[in-house]
Amino acid sequence: MLPLDFIDYMRSTLGEEAESLFRALEQEPVTSIRLNDKIDTLTFSCDIDEVPWHYDGYYLSERPRFTLDPLFHAGCYYVQEASSMFLQQVLDEYVPRDAIVLDLCAAPGGKSTILSQHLADEGLLISNEVVRQRVFILSENIQKWGNGNVVVTHNKPSDFGDGCRYLFDCILVDAPCSGEGMFRKDPAARSEWSLDNVEMCAERQKSILEDVWDALKPGGVLIYSTCTFNKKENEDNVRWMTEYFGADILPLTTEPEWKIKNTPLGCHFYPHLTRGEGFFIAALRKPDTNFTPFRIRTSKKQDTTIKADLEPMLQWLKEPQQWEIKQSDRFMTAYPARHKPLIDFITGFLTCISVGFGLGELRGKNIAPQHSLSMSKALNPAAFPQFALTEEQALAFLRTEALLPPDGMPMGTVLLTYDGVPLGFAKNVGNRLNNLYPNEWRIRKL
Ligand code: SAM
Repeated sequence: MLPLDFIDYMRSTLGEEAESLFRALEQEPVTSIRLNDKIDTLTFSCDIDEVPWHYDGYYLSERPRFTLDPLFHAGCYYVQEASSMFLQQVLDEYVPRDAIVLDLCAAPGGKSTILSQHLADEGLLISNEVVRQRVFILSENIQKWGNGNVVVTHNKPSDFGDGCRYLFDCILVDAPCSGEGMFRKDPAARSEWSLDNVEMCAERQKSILEDVWDALKPGGVLIYSTCTFNKKENEDNVRWMTEYFGADILPLTTEPEWKIKNTPLGCHFYPHLTRGEGFFIAALRKPDTNFTPFRIRTSKKQDTTIKADLEPMLQWLKEPQQWEIKQSDRFMTAYPARHKPLIDFITGFLTCISVGFGLGELRGKNIAPQHSLSMSKALNPAAFPQFALTEEQALAFLRTEALLPPDGMPMGTVLLTYDGVPLGFAKNVGNRLNNLYPNEWRIRKL
């Protein structure tokens, strides 16, 4: 049952068309995935259609049990709502690949995986989540996706506005909202909806935007999105940004057959028109005035860690010269060398959950590879003996079950693969296999 105030409100905005929306909201949600460029092709045992606005987006006619697919855990694809993949179109139109980008409200990370892939080897993404319980799933999804160009942070929007003035070329605010567009996917969104809650969300969105606005460079692009339909959280907030900040709305390009409602204040996705959930997105440019660019302050903190010999780890990477390796306690992390000064500043100033990807861990005199290296696109797989697992073995590995080394597995540290894709590391010690899959990521239920 849809909330009655919602029905009245939508009738007053959409007129007769609202009835088609209500019918669409009673249907099953659409399942869609976005392929990672880690792999070329993927097969599913159901019908597949292309998402028209994303070159790696696909609709699936059925919802498979993704948990049972080792390739899902290997980060080969992300299960993502199709409408939100439209972010890619906005990035292609307005955000260069060498941009420094902040994804302010990032968990669980769907849009951050689009951003990190867009920026690839050139730009840098700060992927932030303010809610503590949600930041670890964000970091997990970022590591599985495998681009090393991401710093995951856990900060308040005002930490960026106060401390990173004029740093970012682009900020994505995928705002917490009243979730009307999620009514058929998430029953809690219906039960929690009220006109008061819409009001509260709209005010909170403004306060988030106000807190972070100073972090955007003059001339930079702010992308604002919600998964709700109402004007208060969408058009009114976009208009408010033009009045309050003097921002200019950027036109977004859509094709008529996509049936996206492209208005002067942003694009609406309605489930009775487009195949996906409800979504709104707008892009605005900050006025380009004279400004003092962001200056990186170097940290004076003394590094007292006993340094490991980094040399052996360089062969684990495809292009070692691209990576700066930093040791913190027992752990070695790799992050893009071209962004070293900025990343060093960020790690000294913000609460960082992960930086680039974990490369190795000092264990006695040896260095063991970390799991996130196996997920990374920077991995040189030829640096490790490899062993291909069957589906059954792969699922046992992902459940972190005690395993006996299968016949033919080399001794020592082995890169386990499934369908040609790295799944993680294990150490074959002869009579048993030490499973190096992160315990906190293990499959709990089958
Ligand atoms: N961008 C994410 C994605 O694509 O996977 C979805 C983000 S969700 C729509 C909004 C996020 O904002 C949530 O993760 C929520 O925890 C976070 N959030 C909640 N309150 C916030 C606040 N006051 N400031 C910033 N973020 C907040």
